[in-house]
Amino acid sequence: MVAALTRLWSARYQVGALFFLALIGPVVGSIPTADAAAREQKGLPASADLAIVGAKIYPAPDATPIDDGVVLVRDGRIVRVGSRQAMTVPRTAHVIDARGSVLTAGFWNSHVHLMTPDLLGAAAAKAGTLQDALETMLTRWGFTTVFDIASSTDNAIALRHRVEAGEIAGPMILTVGDPFYPKGGTPIYVREYLRAHGAPDEEVSTPEEAAARAARQLDRGTDGVKIFAGAIVGGKIGVLPMRIDIAKAIVDEAHHRGKPAFAHPSNLAGLNVAIDSGVDILAHTTAMDGGGPGGWPPELIARLRAHNMALIPTMTLFGVEAKKFHESPNDLAKAITVITAEVKDYARAGGQILFGTDVGYIDVFDTTEEYKLMSAALDWRAILASLTTAPAARFGFAAHKGRIANGMDADLVLLNGDPAKDPTAFARVRDTIRAGRVIWGADR
Ligand SMILES: [Zn+2]
Repeated sequence: MVAALTRLWSARYQVGALFFLALIGPVVGSIPTADAAAREQKGLPASADLAIVGAKIYPAPDATPIDDGVVLVRDGRIVRVGSRQAMTVPRTAHVIDARGSVLTAGFWNSHVHLMTPDLLGAAAAKAGTLQDALETMLTRWGFTTVFDIASSTDNAIALRHRVEAGEIAGPMILTVGDPFYPKGGTPIYVREYLRAHGAPDEEVSTPEEAAARAARQLDRGTDGVKIFAGAIVGGKIGVLPMRIDIAKAIVDEAHHRGKPAFAHPSNLAGLNVAIDSGVDILAHTTAMDGGGPGGWPPELIARLRAHNMALIPTMTLFGVEAKKFHESPNDLAKAITVITAEVKDYARAGGQILFGTDVGYIDVFDTTEEYKLMSAALDWRAILASLTTAPAARFGFAAHKGRIANGMDADLVLLNGDPAKDPTAFARVRDTIRAGRVIWGADR
């Protein structure tokens, strides 16, 4: 099965060009406003910059929905949430008429790569070029926060700086910067890309060397580390596992600073390196070799749970992408069955699932397929959790992100459709709002 996966990657590598392809609504006259005294009497905030009015609100995956709701925002924070009947909208607020839409907390994509051609050279590139690239790939799909889990440290930090300076409308960017490969373990599918862009050698030979580079990157401002616990190198070797002492040195360096460690496992050997080195998040399932034909065996699931491992499904990667490379329908169906079982069984066992698509490596920006595939393993509330509360909790932002509640950051997504009825509605984004500002709108 490893050979099958290697073939898939090799084929992709040969047609590597594919990889390079890689509002506000009308003001509603009928909404009642109130004078300051009346608002004070009702205990309402004295003012709001923005009011989102009339949506069905899903405040959190486990919360009761609010029909015909109102969210008031001031200075980038949510100041009030409730039903329209129980609230008045301050006259000063800019109103988004959200009747007929669904409102959720802003989405996280916990597996992206900020390395598409238009995102390179971020320090000097035109702001419009960078913003267009971020829109097409991320904000247009509702992402208000992303975790870049391998690109270039300097480039990702330069891009983040320009977004945070307000020059570019974009998501909050967390990044691991440069990844860590075992010696001789630069994956077969990135070699051409790295050569073409004159990227530095990212292989590490000793624990000392690995720890020193991890420390340098974290000092530069990265938010975690990513190791290739099992690197797909092709040929006779197939998957090359990372030495456990090297993996541990990198993970420890991140943990000393309270930062998370991600791993690309590839197969069971890589999964063991990830578990034994203390990794926190699996960047993928192990589609082709996970220790059992029906997915992960119960003992493995128990071990992953005991280590409090989070899992990013990246189902589209193995689904849509595999189709392009003419894997036999049988192999493809088998892989999808295995991935679905792994995600379903892990979630059932209480394992944490984080939404992530590997976008920036794959050129499938549309998230519809991912929601379709995920819905075979998870219900819509679990998918919403993977997009909001789970990553906010995992990465230390639960106090101000992931839910629609007073005091939380006004990171919000308006959807044209109800994901409770159809999970692909998560992909039908009308507006993406970060810190109270519309950073992408379908009507614009
Ligand atoms: Zn990836």
